[in-house]
Amino acid sequence: MGATSRSILPVAQLPLSLSAGLPSGKKSSYVACLGCHLVKSQLQFATDGCENCGNFFGSVEESTTSLFTGVVSIMDSSQSWVAKWMRIERLLPGCYAITVEAPAAGEA
Ligand SMILES: [Zn+2]
Repeated sequence: MGATSRSILPVAQLPLSLSAGLPSGKKSSYVACLGCHLVKSQLQFATDGCENCGNFFGSVEESTTSLFTGVVSIMDSSQSWVAKWMRIERLLPGCYAITVEAPAAGEA
């Protein structure tokens, strides 16, 4: 005893509820949230919304894009330089697109 208490759990012990859903299904169905870059399948967004942004106000098509490049997995966003660089350090662990391209206006 006497050791400083450790409040940070190893990633493997994180309760599942503390992470955003991981993408599942066909890779071609993956889309990225325009708000936080979270990557999941279109079906997952339709079912669960975005764990960071909450339920979408518009349709999944309006709130996500398939035009994204690169995916990084953030396990512990407070410890990740990638998360800091991407300014997503306060987001839940999950898969995030490095860059997203919003659909051009008028193109739906
Ligand atoms: Zn989001």
